Amino acid sequence: MSISLDTFLHRLAAVRARIAQACADAGRNPAEVALLPVTKYHPAEVVALVAAAGLAAVGENRVQEAIAKQAQAGVKVRWELIGHLQSNKARLAARHFDRIQSVGSIRLLDALDREAAAAGRILPVLLQINAGNDPAKSGAEPGEAPALLEHALGRTSLRIEGLMTIAPLSDDPLVARRTFASLREIRDALAARFGRPLPELSMGMTGDLAQAIAEGSTMVRVGSALFGERTDPLPNG
Ligand SMILES: *Cc1c(COP(=O)(O)O)cnc(C)c1O
Repeated sequence: MSISLDTFLHRLAAVRARIAQACADAGRNPAEVALLPVTKYHPAEVVALVAAAGLAAVGENRVQEAIAKQAQAGVKVRWELIGHLQSNKARLAARHFDRIQSVGSIRLLDALDREAAAAGRILPVLLQINAGNDPAKSGAEPGEAPALLEHALGRTSLRIEGLMTIAPLSDDPLVARRTFASLREIRDALAARFGRPLPELSMGMTGDLAQAIAEGSTMVRVGSALFGERTDPLPNG
């Protein structure tokens, strides 16, 4: 069951107020922080709510689920993949997503590059870095980031737009804050070393968006604050 447009607009206003407050606290311009509504585990109707509210993109974390919704949603939005991607789904992912945020291995870079070339497109990607050194999270380890980026920059059918991370689950807000600071530092070091700006820093979710904005996030990915708690018990990866 989907929520009403009215409920969605109220929650959207509340999330935007949180983003605005975090920006004010950090001395940042709210126009620098995009909001990506995460519609995973919610029905295709919520994608129509997103479009009705004038938002341009949604985040999904499973390829097959997103493809089914793309057929059902009946509205035009951009689709971003934020969940773990196996190389054997690269063909579908390269054809059905506008950007893939969860690229953490050379093997996956190669598979996506090959499939994007076969589809005749340049595929935008973010490199997922396990900046919180969380054994439960996927993504490249910080020490692997330079080699991953170097390889990525050699792929002619991929466009590397920045970095993404997920903070470890913790009751201590400092854990998330340190993770986000670390992703920004990794980005700054890579940008200097490779002479590429890597402008996108996708970091922050419902529970930790303020910490992410304080550390330079350019995109917060928000699910439960907009659509309610998910019923699916699967972890985020
Ligand atoms: C589910 C998910 C989100 C959104 O999480 P909420 O806590 O519901 O806002 C953001 N990013 C990723 C990678 C996710 O899997």
